[in-house]
Amino acid sequence: MLTGEKELKAVMFGPPGAGKGTYASRLQKKLGVETIATGDIFRELMKEKSGLALKVKGYVEKGLLVPDDVVIEVLKQRLSKIPKGKGFILDGFPRTIEQAKALEELAKIDVVLLLDVPDWLIIERLSSRRICRNCGTVYNTRFLKPTVEGVCDKCGGQLYQRSDDNPDVIKKRLQVYQEQSKPLLDYFERKNVPFVVSKTTSLDQPPEPIVDRMIEELKKRGFV
Ligand code: ADP
Repeated sequence: MLTGEKELKAVMFGPPGAGKGTYASRLQKKLGVETIATGDIFRELMKEKSGLALKVKGYVEKGLLVPDDVVIEVLKQRLSKIPKGKGFILDGFPRTIEQAKALEELAKIDVVLLLDVPDWLIIERLSSRRICRNCGTVYNTRFLKPTVEGVCDKCGGQLYQRSDDNPDVIKKRLQVYQEQSKPLLDYFERKNVPFVVSKTTSLDQPPEPIVDRMIEELKKRGFV
């Protein structure tokens, strides 16, 4: 493991189903940084019975973005819990220009880890995605299978399908990405934030080589 001495501050950016969570969790282990995944935070919150939980659920289950004020508050709180001297990767934040502007006030991002994945592959991948209820590890019933069907290799937890991983909601999420999140690429470019681009072209591409290449690139550029 690297020491995280350089305090990497990265944004993992890409369409839904591009693999943001998969790569971020692997980078977390290999680089000793923290990850903040706003989608995970909202799924945890949605288990509660509070008014805020119900409000968030209304957006997530339709494939719409949770309003900026809610997301920004959640991010602020989570970011303030990162121990001093530790780097972080944001998975799923920012997703709007408003969120990016708020982030600028909180931290200076070193690099955007951009995932370039075609739509057809996303649809295939998301419709066969399964997640461990206990530890959150992501599987795919076609290409990243658990050893025993329905059971997590890592912790023995039960695998489930996310309620927003159904064809109609997937389409909506892709549309929302195109309209509201993709413009952020221009925004980062205007702000001179460097990019590390990882391209996926086939369904059976294993994550490890992609993660290793990301780390190589981050090292080469002095971010880790
Ligand atoms: P994916 O990237 O596969 O769509 P996530 O787990 O990152 O999945 O997000 C799931 C849902 O949580 C999103 O569709 C959205 O409703 C909500 N969400 C997550 N992050 C944000 C964000 N930064 N801004 C607004 N909504 C968000």
